[in-house]
Amino acid sequence: MDQIKIGKFLQERRKECGLTQSELAEKLYVSDRAISKWENGNCLPDADHMVELCDILGITINDLFMGEVMPKDFVNTELEASLVAMTKLKQQADKRLLGIEIVLGVFSTVLLFTGILIAGLVAMPLWARILVGVGAWILFFVGIAFAIRIEQKAGYYQCPDCGHKYVPNYSSVLFAMHVNRTRYMKCPHCGKHGWHKKVID
Ligand SMILES: [Zn+2]
Repeated sequence: MDQIKIGKFLQERRKECGLTQSELAEKLYVSDRAISKWENGNCLPDADHMVELCDILGITINDLFMGEVMPKDFVNTELEASLVAMTKLKQQADKRLLGIEIVLGVFSTVLLFTGILIAGLVAMPLWARILVGVGAWILFFVGIAFAIRIEQKAGYYQCPDCGHKYVPNYSSVLFAMHVNRTRYMKCPHCGKHGWHKKVID
């Protein structure tokens, strides 16, 4: 794999699509620096962003790895097999992460209520009561913040209008109204607001 060639190719395609580095970065929820690293051939786009990047630039995964537009009937079986394997691994890891999210959420909630009960019912000086109460709330928020972080990173959210799948940034997940893992957010592809479901693949 020729990373320099791939980088040049990505840069060409980006320019042909009329996008600046920061416009592309915004679409993919990555930093401008990440884009310039890819284009300089310092590193390859990570698996998380590869499919979406190809989509935006109008190329195939094969084109990306070869650093040029390949004929339609060109099949790189080795590459395709490793991509399928990579996707499967990511799906398994995401499922595991979302399982951890539930445990973390439940654990934080139980901890909070236990803390409030202890602070309210057990005989202790006022300062200790306040300490236990405030401590329980702090641990609760830390636990929930981690859980939301996991939810943001694992899998994708899917727009019900255009079917676009994406990984949103942390604050848009944090501040979105939600019912379980379905969140009310703005689609980066079609721009419509809607209830976006969590999907693994
Ligand atoms: Zn959409």
